[in-house]
Amino acid sequence: MLETLRNIVQDVNAAPDFQRRLDIIVSRVKEAMGTEVCSIYLMNPARTHYMFVATEGLNIEAVGNVRLAIDEGLVGVVGRRAEPINLEDATTHSQFHYLPEIGEERFHAFLGVPIIHHRRNLGVMVVQQSESRRFDESEEAFLVTLSAQLAGIIAHAEATGEIAHLGQDDHELRDLRFVGVPGAPGIVVGDAVVVQPTADLNAVPDREVENVMVELAVFDRAINAIRTQIRQIGEQLATSLPPQELALFDAYLHMLDDDALAGDVRDEIRKGQWSQGALRHVIQEHVRNFERMEDSYIRERAADVRELGQRVLANLQDIRQKKTHFPENTILVAQEVTPAMMSEIPTERLKGIVSMQGTGNSHVAILARALDIPTVMGAVDLPLFSVENRTLIVDGYFGQTFLNPTPKLLDHYASLMAEEREFAQELEEFKDLPSVTTDGHEVVLWVNIGLIGDVSRALDRGAQGIGLFRTEVPFQTLDRFPTEEEQRVIYREHMEAFSPLPVTMRTLDIGGDKPLPYFEIQEDNPFLGWRGIRVTLDHPEIFMAQVRAMIKANAGLEGELRIMLPMISNVGEVDEAKVLVNRAYTEVVEEGVVVDRPQIGVMIEVPAAVYQARELAKRVDFLAVGSNDLTQYMLAVDRNNPRVAELYNETHPAVLHALREVVVAGHAEDKIVGICGELAGTPHGAVLCIAMGFDILSMSSPSLLKVKWVVRNISRMTAMRMLVKVLKMHTADEINDFMHRSLIEAGLGRVIPSYRGPDAV
Ligand code: PEP
Ligand code: MG
Repeated sequence: MLETLRNIVQDVNAAPDFQRRLDIIVSRVKEAMGTEVCSIYLMNPARTHYMFVATEGLNIEAVGNVRLAIDEGLVGVVGRRAEPINLEDATTHSQFHYLPEIGEERFHAFLGVPIIHHRRNLGVMVVQQSESRRFDESEEAFLVTLSAQLAGIIAHAEATGEIAHLGQDDHELRDLRFVGVPGAPGIVVGDAVVVQPTADLNAVPDREVENVMVELAVFDRAINAIRTQIRQIGEQLATSLPPQELALFDAYLHMLDDDALAGDVRDEIRKGQWSQGALRHVIQEHVRNFERMEDSYIRERAADVRELGQRVLANLQDIRQKKTHFPENTILVAQEVTPAMMSEIPTERLKGIVSMQGTGNSHVAILARALDIPTVMGAVDLPLFSVENRTLIVDGYFGQTFLNPTPKLLDHYASLMAEEREFAQELEEFKDLPSVTTDGHEVVLWVNIGLIGDVSRALDRGAQGIGLFRTEVPFQTLDRFPTEEEQRVIYREHMEAFSPLPVTMRTLDIGGDKPLPYFEIQEDNPFLGWRGIRVTLDHPEIFMAQVRAMIKANAGLEGELRIMLPMISNVGEVDEAKVLVNRAYTEVVEEGVVVDRPQIGVMIEVPAAVYQARELAKRVDFLAVGSNDLTQYMLAVDRNNPRVAELYNETHPAVLHALREVVVAGHAEDKIVGICGELAGTPHGAVLCIAMGFDILSMSSPSLLKVKWVVRNISRMTAMRMLVKVLKMHTADEINDFMHRSLIEAGLGRVIPSYRGPDAV
């Protein structure tokens, strides 16, 4: 059964458009279950009725022309009850509704299952038979399982507007809206450039080519190169491999013949597809064919075809090298955008980012915020393969992207962008003004940095210090660990630029979602695994080199160096780390460097640290809350998983109470307490943090002036009154609504983007 399910889902996924997907579903289900009928009824987007969208066995002419009211017939009952209905003779059921157009009168046995995605009913799938009989349990289980798997595909079609416009090409559909989550605020209109990870065949977009001859020549070069490589490897291994293993190389070479894979790819190219896209089509088709085979040995050959495809792709990518031309308003689109992809595009051209994976708390989103690039994350439904070169609107405030915008929608967004520019210009005047509330309370605003270039952006905006230097970023851009001296130079550059302002350096925080290409950590559960301080305490050589580099970099400068430890979950880790920091300091001084002892601080990022905040505060000079991770761990919500992004809420009452407790605990020990998670850089978050008594708010530099504007336009008393009410609330929604209204009432509505989608235009 598993095999059949897998094959159906694969075939459905491979179909070129939605109508064909539906047709494949009904025909394959009918065949697999041996029934006489399989049909699909889908809810229309306005959710007022079901549409008869596909059938095998009933009147095909009725497809697209018949509808059922939401509560009509057995389909209506299945949808309403959200559970299967299995009837021996449907025609005798009180809810049976006879539709003459579809010709179902001769069928008695009826099994209908709902198609549900994320709690929403999207439609109903039905199988029928003329003989009166109940479908058995395994048949019912099969249809329920299949429906649950297909629900995602149908939800995707709903999101892309394909259901509303069944039968139309997506190029004809306008203002197509794809919902993700906000990654970095701001709006931009630009041209999509799809970037694929190196040699990832599954991420290759479709691209039409004009010059087929050139494309064929590129493909020939790649094939010749790979033939040579395979022969060479075969010769090298000739004496060490058994003959049956060596035969694999011949098999590979054979697959590259014109009467096999290569011929098929050439045919696709001749139809106007670029070579990488043609290769993807052909390899996926062959893989599917192999995977469908009954014989397990032949089935496993699918892996060989995939491997060969990757190799050919790598050669094609080498021949073409990297894309060098990017449009002026490039919107970087990828399955999973990485910092490396961002760095391939000239900064002045990279105007927006859309990532199908990840959420607002993924590191790419954090980098995008630092660089002020409007970003949408988790746009899972975006048709990656067909957006290349097309106009996109990226609305980073509401996490939405529009494809094929109408002139009306473009005008609308152009006016929002103009408003934004005007506000940004006004904010410029605030950069040298003090950050003081209307009742005279000073709020210290620092910045989070990590990227080269962040420093000048931060200083331009009047930052008073660095509250978080994410040191892993320089580590990620190399192909090995940086040396102590290499690190010293980078850190020094930042510290000099900020001198005499304080600089907070976080020790290496890898693991979780921050991988190093040269230090792979394979874990089933990386966020609960080897990350942050756990890695560096296990590798004192890495920790010591980094801390020594930090201390040396501060020599001769007036600014205070603060060293901060990430992911602390027990006091023992702090004690151990302090011993190492003190040893590093002594060593550096013994080497003759004249430098002050650094301050040491702990990041409060896991719930255990909240409950031990006072114990931790006793041991160090300062506490800093990493609310991004703290939210993730308190709510048990992966910060990168779009499926649970709605549950990730920094204003969850439990998180806010925890923040308040950390401030109280830190202050009880007379220690400075800061916050450097993203919450601090949002208008509502900043107001709540000020009211809680945080001594330092650290944020990405683009947020700085907006937050300063909020600070200078609100009194601490008002903020505290808001907090008192918020701490009595029970849900994040209630808190968000209340803060939204309160900021507007306090005259701060300008910093709150209002939703104005196409419906409001
Ligand atoms: C945090 O977790 O809030 C934080 C500032 O660290 P990072 O986002 O780099 O994990
Ligand atoms: Mg963190």
